[in-house]
Amino acid sequence: MTSEPLRLLVVSAHPHDFTHCAGTCGVHTARGDSVTVVSVTSGAYTHNEELHDELMKPEAERDPAIINRTPEDYAAGKETELRQACAIFGITDVRILGFPQPFRLENYPESIEALRDVILDVRPHVLITTSPSSDGQRRVVSGTRDDHTESVRALMDARVMASAYVRHTRPHRIAATYFMGVYFQRDELDFVVDVSDWFEQRVQAEALFESQGHTPAWARRRIDVSVGNTGWFAGTLYGEGFVREGPELLPRIVVSEAALTRAAESHAAHRHKIVGDK
Ligand SMILES: [Zn+2]
Repeated sequence: MTSEPLRLLVVSAHPHDFTHCAGTCGVHTARGDSVTVVSVTSGAYTHNEELHDELMKPEAERDPAIINRTPEDYAAGKETELRQACAIFGITDVRILGFPQPFRLENYPESIEALRDVILDVRPHVLITTSPSSDGQRRVVSGTRDDHTESVRALMDARVMASAYVRHTRPHRIAATYFMGVYFQRDELDFVVDVSDWFEQRVQAEALFESQGHTPAWARRRIDVSVGNTGWFAGTLYGEGFVREGPELLPRIVVSEAALTRAAESHAAHRHKIVGDK
């Protein structure tokens, strides 16, 4: 509602998590807003599908180049992938905090201060992160912890610290916090951002994560099915869903231009939109 440029901060546990809201970030950088992307861990111990597949083979058949690669090498590759993926969406401020995995807040309480420092440096209006509970998307038992939920816990504590009075430091309050919709059921989404113009970039970003075994064909299929599914149910070609942390203060009832257009468009126009006709 403000025409002033917004500052967005995206915080997740692993490098690849950012991609779930990448199209939205692209929409924002294109309109002059700034986006900072933070990964709490290097992701060195997640999604090493290549190593997994190699270890499944009999010992004599394993490729030493894959078996002997260090977690540091793997993490360095992931950092490169994340920076390249962010660049596709106009993001240059990328920060990897590099806390060890499995990331558990009680083992690394200093992560709270590290995240507070990021918040006080960036001073974001908008915070985007993964799900605060592990019973979001997959409905595993409530209370189960993983890198994602633990990172969000650290982030929430950091947010409180950043907003508190500390001598000589100007406090900062974040105006709105959103959770990435991929960690939730569809009926839990509060809104969907139309990222139809960012589909090819989402495919490119997905394909960049070769360290996780992504191939161009796999990337295209995944984004078509997942981002296409969210878009389909929101009435557009491609969409990224979000969940609000809580009720937002609005000046009045706000209906987006996109929703008004959707309500007024003909069935024929809608069909053209859904199949990507210009
Ligand atoms: Zn992750």
